[in-house]
Amino acid sequence: MDQGIAERLGEVRARIATAAQRFDPPGRKVTLIAVSKGFGEDHIRAALDAGQRDFGENRVQEAGKKWPALKRDYPDVRLHLIGPLQTNKAREAVALFDVIHTVDREKIAAALAAETARANRRLPIFVEVNIGAEARKAGVAAGEAVGFVERCRKVHGLEVLGLMCIPPAGEAPGPYFAQLALLAKAARVESLSMGMSADYPVAVEMGASHVRIGSAIFGAREA
Ligand SMILES: *Cc1c(COP(=O)(O)O)cnc(C)c1O
Repeated sequence: MDQGIAERLGEVRARIATAAQRFDPPGRKVTLIAVSKGFGEDHIRAALDAGQRDFGENRVQEAGKKWPALKRDYPDVRLHLIGPLQTNKAREAVALFDVIHTVDREKIAAALAAETARANRRLPIFVEVNIGAEARKAGVAAGEAVGFVERCRKVHGLEVLGLMCIPPAGEAPGPYFAQLALLAKAARVESLSMGMSADYPVAVEMGASHVRIGSAIFGAREA
């Protein structure tokens, strides 16, 4: 077991707390999502032993192999889907995950609505925004975010917690986080899923409610 995981979790939590004091108003509650994609049960159990309960995975199939047994051992775990979702995986995703961060099109919203109703499950979501208008990135366009949130609620009856983004690589992320926060205000949603290992202190200063952190906790991933 990797003893470093508990220590790194502690460091990340401390940096989040410091950054949350710089947000206005200070002390916003921030949920730390430990992104365990690419890591196996040993690493995950080390984090669970250290008290971590929110975890993120970006593939339904990988999560389906790792998490059912872990969730039986730790029923209070909350599993967040932070990667792309296909409609043909909606049923599996609804059975396994507790929050979906990547809703970005009508078909997915409809499939999640149908499957949550069928399974009689509550499944809050985030709408993913392509905040840098990048050709190859997922997410609704910034200009469509408010309308799409509205349709997720009114047409599909989904519980929308907030907005999620991944800013363009190699650019200062702050302005993108600020823009997501403005969009969330316009859409009347509270939560902001933003910030990864490289940029989470800035994200928290800008009002992140959920940060998604992998390598700063578990170490470098292969590939
Ligand atoms: C992998 C991933 C993360 C975590 O990335 P790190 O840089 O390892 O912290 C966060 N969000 C999404 C959507 C990811 O795919």
